[in-house]
Amino acid sequence: MPAKSIQTRPVHPDIERILLEESQLQARIKEMGKQISRDYAGRKLTIVGILKGSVIFLSDLMRAITIDCTVDFMCLSSYSGKGSTGVVRFLLDLRDSAEGRDLLIVEDIVDTGLTLHYLLDNLKTRGPKSVEVCALLDKAECRKVPVYAKYVGFKIPNHFVVGFGLDYDEKYRNLPYVGVLKTDGK
Ligand code: 5GP
Repeated sequence: MPAKSIQTRPVHPDIERILLEESQLQARIKEMGKQISRDYAGRKLTIVGILKGSVIFLSDLMRAITIDCTVDFMCLSSYSGKGSTGVVRFLLDLRDSAEGRDLLIVEDIVDTGLTLHYLLDNLKTRGPKSVEVCALLDKAECRKVPVYAKYVGFKIPNHFVVGFGLDYDEKYRNLPYVGVLKTDGK
């Protein structure tokens, strides 16, 4: 294959505009990985990926973290289509005990904060040494309950976004950028 045959992928027709390009995402994730590696040096870091939206972010973030760490997953449901139902359900729990561990919850986006608030309350009852939150995106103006994320990739305005792991009815997770969905998004 010739060295210069890089093909640019066309923007998906359901996307109104790109909010965060792949290169911006990668650069910021590298910075976040460095900061987390510094902050957790010498500690027992367990990354808790929240399925499914965090998977792309998580896999890039983990490779930017240079200290020893383990990973576990949880799956919670509060969203249906484009809106939060406000009712949080556990679909998958941690495999390992949280006791004595430094937990770092990795989320795709914090919106109302309801999901994380519920999750943090739950995890704190399990005797972890510490619990912090790392979110790729933060829609701070949409908060209904106070939630503190120590690590935030990008603060974004109140738009429904997809791509880089985020979906609309399970679609668009594989887009390499974060984009605003057209209002008639299918
Ligand atoms: P919260 O409980 O903070 O309102 O919502 C958290 C979850 O809702 C996120 O983990 C994500 O799955 C979903 N969510 C919130 N805002 C958006 C958005 O703009 N786009 C997508 N695709 N999902 C979102």
